[in-house]
Amino acid sequence: MNKITSKARKIRLLLLDVDGILTDGRILYDEKGRETKYFHVHDGQGIRWLLSEGIKVGFLSGRSSGAVEMRAKELDISFLFQGIKDKMVLYGKLLQKTKLDPEQVSFMGDDFVDLRLLKSVGLSVSVSNGHPLVRKEVDYVTQAAGGFGAVREVSELIFKAQGKWESILRNYGLKSKDGKY
Ligand SMILES: [Mg+2]
Repeated sequence: MNKITSKARKIRLLLLDVDGILTDGRILYDEKGRETKYFHVHDGQGIRWLLSEGIKVGFLSGRSSGAVEMRAKELDISFLFQGIKDKMVLYGKLLQKTKLDPEQVSFMGDDFVDLRLLKSVGLSVSVSNGHPLVRKEVDYVTQAAGGFGAVREVSELIFKAQGKWESILRNYGLKSKDGKY
């Protein structure tokens, strides 16, 4: 079993930075100064599957926006934290609250501000359009870009590692070929 698979096998909580992970990092303002963001439906489906398989999902954003709150509500995620100054402090509290070990947590981040947390979790992930220095420090870099299915890619990786992917495929009338997906 490769290193990523053995790490992904243990994951019970997936934490997601918002800007640059759930979105492509661009922020749009309307004429009233309200923030708008693009989310990807593929990521939304991956998150729904994770939740239905009992894996918790949390959004962790240094910024604050109503669009993120709406998305979190729509997907009914486990944790939403916005306006976070220090992601490490929050992470410590979250471990206590969930009674999980660091090796049971995965975090996806794209920029320097995410590095400390990335280095503290069991499975650290960045995205193909993440900062190059961040990409060098993580366990896994998605083929997809942030905002374009990167979270879906990680959810599938977790399901494959945990032996749940086949049953998800079956729900859609699909199956793997010779054990390959
Ligand atoms: Mg970010």
